[in-house]
Amino acid sequence: MIRAKKAFGVSPIEEPPPPLLEKSALGPRARAWPGEARAEGPVDVFVRKNVREALGVSWAFSREVEEGGFLFGQVHRDADQPSRWLVVVTEVIRAEHAEEAPDALVFSPESFASMRRHVEATRDGASILGWFHTHLVAGPEDRGLSVVDRDLHFSTFRRPWQVAALVCVDPARDPEGREVSFFARQGDVLVPCAVEVLA
Ligand SMILES: [Zn+2]
Repeated sequence: MIRAKKAFGVSPIEEPPPPLLEKSALGPRARAWPGEARAEGPVDVFVRKNVREALGVSWAFSREVEEGGFLFGQVHRDADQPSRWLVVVTEVIRAEHAEEAPDALVFSPESFASMRRHVEATRDGASILGWFHTHLVAGPEDRGLSVVDRDLHFSTFRRPWQVAALVCVDPARDPEGREVSFFARQGDVLVPCAVEVLA
């Protein structure tokens, strides 16, 4: 669980709201994945090219077990609509010590501990934007999040702007044009995000 321990007798420190950002300040950008057009949620996702390449093409993913990891980068509020979030994913890492199985992925306490060490080591002010995992696509139902996935997201990634990325490992299309979707919470459901890749 990613949750700060409350010290006895000390009020938790309120986090300042993420800074406002004009979308135009992000520079040129394009649709990140072909076919991805749905955007219902309150979070717009922008991925750097390295992240798009890793998840979409260059990383080899197992076709036997689901794999996963964590997303890092910056979070902003949209200057034009401050109730919306703009998250910029600059880095993705694979989880260590995750339990991988054909139909489930479980992050262990060691997964989170090594992820925190990574954050502390890089010290560039990046936030933990969320997580990704793979689905081994055998049918259309595998292209959406499962109940287990939703439970993991709601219990572990509690910030309103944290996202879940789903990488579809489909033998027919992998690794060229691998489909990747992002989801964010809206009320008590997870809905698709618009995703663009930054030049
Ligand atoms: Zn899943």
